[in-house]
Amino acid sequence: MPLSTEKLRAVVALERTKGFENTAVIGGLDRFLAVWVDEAAQSLTDRTKLTQLKVRLTGFNYAGIPAADREASLDTLLGFIEELNQPQNPGVAESVESARLVFETPAVPKPKAGAAIHPPAALDIPVTAFKGVNQSTAAKFKKLGIETVRDMLYHFPSRHLDYSRTTRIAELSPGPEQTIVATVWEVRLTTPGGRRSTEAIVGDDTGNIRALWFNNPYLLRQIHANDRLVLSGKITVFKGTLVFESPEWEKLENKELVHTGRLAPVYPLTAGLYPRMVRRLMKETVDGFAPSLVDYLPESIRTRRGLLSLPEAVAQAHFPDSETAKDEARRRLAFDELLVLQLGVMARKRAWRVSQPGIPIPGDQSLLERFLSTLEFQLTGAQRRSLNEILADLKRKEAMSRLLQGDVGSGKTVVATIAILMTVASGYQTAFMAPTEILADQHFKSVNGMLARLATAKQDNGDTVSYLGILPDRPLTVALLLGDAKESGKTVIRNRIKSGEIDLVIGTHSLIQKSMKFKQLGLAVIDEQHRFGVEQRQSLRQKGTNPHLLVMTATPIPRTLALTLYGDLDLSVIDELPPGRQPIRTRWLKPEQRASAYAFIRKQVNLKQQSFIICPLVEESEAVQAKAATAEYETLKMEIFPEFRLGLIHGRMSAAEKDSVMSAFSAGRLDILVSTPVIEVGIDVPNATVMLIESADRFGLSQLHQFRGRVGRGKEQSYCMLLAENPSDVANARLSVIEKNQDGFVLAEEDLKLRGPGEFFGTRQSGLPDLKMARLSDVPILEAARAEATRLFEEDPRLQQPEHLRLYEELTRVWPQTGEWS
Ligand code: ADP
Ligand code: MG
Repeated sequence: MPLSTEKLRAVVALERTKGFENTAVIGGLDRFLAVWVDEAAQSLTDRTKLTQLKVRLTGFNYAGIPAADREASLDTLLGFIEELNQPQNPGVAESVESARLVFETPAVPKPKAGAAIHPPAALDIPVTAFKGVNQSTAAKFKKLGIETVRDMLYHFPSRHLDYSRTTRIAELSPGPEQTIVATVWEVRLTTPGGRRSTEAIVGDDTGNIRALWFNNPYLLRQIHANDRLVLSGKITVFKGTLVFESPEWEKLENKELVHTGRLAPVYPLTAGLYPRMVRRLMKETVDGFAPSLVDYLPESIRTRRGLLSLPEAVAQAHFPDSETAKDEARRRLAFDELLVLQLGVMARKRAWRVSQPGIPIPGDQSLLERFLSTLEFQLTGAQRRSLNEILADLKRKEAMSRLLQGDVGSGKTVVATIAILMTVASGYQTAFMAPTEILADQHFKSVNGMLARLATAKQDNGDTVSYLGILPDRPLTVALLLGDAKESGKTVIRNRIKSGEIDLVIGTHSLIQKSMKFKQLGLAVIDEQHRFGVEQRQSLRQKGTNPHLLVMTATPIPRTLALTLYGDLDLSVIDELPPGRQPIRTRWLKPEQRASAYAFIRKQVNLKQQSFIICPLVEESEAVQAKAATAEYETLKMEIFPEFRLGLIHGRMSAAEKDSVMSAFSAGRLDILVSTPVIEVGIDVPNATVMLIESADRFGLSQLHQFRGRVGRGKEQSYCMLLAENPSDVANARLSVIEKNQDGFVLAEEDLKLRGPGEFFGTRQSGLPDLKMARLSDVPILEAARAEATRLFEEDPRLQQPEHLRLYEELTRVWPQTGEWS
């Protein structure tokens, strides 16, 4: 039933005739409104709207509005109420429709800008609707990503303080997280160390204790003698007696406790927001709005998995009744995140599969066998298995989307090369994209090198194109395309790609520029895919008519997790290193051991081995980093290793310069390569056996593992030394993990634990929704979510059944309709 507004309108009309002097009703308009809303509430059956109205009125203070603005503010208020009384917001219904279409078939146009799905309207009201939240406070909330009531509800505490057990004063002991219920005997101002502070003596029937709020005189106005208080916090010893140190406090009234005497939430804050205020506001929000959250999870799933309802879970995640309730809340919310993630990823894969037919690549078995026989080594079992999966995919009519995962040095490049060769032999073009120029250049050389062993003739054109006599009818043409090459040269290559003359192009992001056009792209390979975003992956694919896609990564993650995160990709794993690799001996050195690190390098170089030195990390900019590396290089060259041949490589050098340094190092014409972190990924120089990493504490585990993976690629024993000037606790943990572990799989799990999922996967840059509650190490939840997503997908792939409608809406809200959707 709508809200009855007649009485209100009459009062406003009267107020108008009386010149907005707040005299239309006795006691003023504010008081009238307070009574009116309770009355009106009886006619308003929609709870959500009622809450909305109440929040709106809480922020309304007619008496406090300057007379000149009163008319306008009454009009706004009436307008607001008018809107509340509208039965349905037509805009919402329409956008649900258009978003549904996008979900169903990949080929329909994107929904209009701004036509996003709206959750129940109340959750969308801005935080300024709350009493005490003005524009400036709202701006601070915005820094935390909070603009609406919904954002507030989903701003979860980072932890809880356990103030749930009350102690009697006689039983208090020094330590954190203690709670008492006590009566205030006396409150006064003190000035310890010249700071105006509040001191109170409080007691229960077992004794008294002093509470001190240092540097906070304001409490004098709030705490009074004879108040009954709950105090929670840390107990310290001062001059032999126990003191409550700036405890959280609240009055013991007939209200639920917010700050004390419970599991009290601790929220991530930003400058200008205070714990007490945020906690109070949160409590208000949770009490008022969590109940109006729509539970989008089908009842059957909820029962099967024994999950809390959504309103309950959100409420308990903030203000839990117990540890168990808190864990259950997290389980429900994490389940939701993973379910929605999984459903989105599955839909993406489907959208993709059905969009257009792919190009079947029959390949050439005898060419494949000839290629394998020319290799210097035999493929490992794991390489063969992955290769067979890839070749089987290529033969299909549906386009391949496959992730090839294998630890650093496991030999992914040769597998990709074979897929490329088979595609080219079937008459289609291929593209191979790498994240750095150095790596693209190296791939150009090594892929060329492998193919050349097969060729009856070979011809090079400068450094960027080669013609190999492999195919019966024409030379197999390989080109290198780098961003900073000369424009004229690039244009020539681009034209020849467009005409179909070039069979394989290897490059960086330059491959996805607008001006790049292929005649017939059959296969796109992306190396070190974690360095690219989803959109870049997609752009490369769009260079052809649904070409096959092979993406490679060295970040090994547990299978369930990989399937969840990369569920739109099929997975092949190279879980075996080529034979003869020895573990890399890794030492974490103290800063004062630098000289012995240098001595060790000297010894190895004298044994004809090569060494990398990674410069200290400077974060300001690539230019500053380059400058710092140059200085480091000069010092090393002049003062430390004058007898050796040193090279320098950094991100500001031109492609040609980088290439000439890398080539010299690969060919053994340099002993030591001093480098910025640009050589992090992919570089393969088997004769290099020593890696020294400066400021090792500043890198993540995966990065360190990648650096270390630059050595240990040949048969010789290799070494990695880590130097860290001033590591933090977390950095210490990382360094000792890397020192003890070689296995990329173990390292990835450790990394996950140390960094948390968001940072680990860079979910934002990868185009995946953010995970707030889910821990990716939480296998049971992950598996449950995956199982339910799979079941849903089988039973009702487009979520059209009525009981799935809400889940469908949630899905479209979380997954913006961009990138791979359309
Ligand atoms: P990543 O998987 O890290 O990209 P690469 O493809 O660069 O590894 O291969 C690392 C090194 O191992 C290269 O020098 C490559 O020639 C060599 N390699 C690859 N496969 C084998 C194998 N089956 N046996 C021996 N060496 C191999
Ligand atoms: Mg590689």
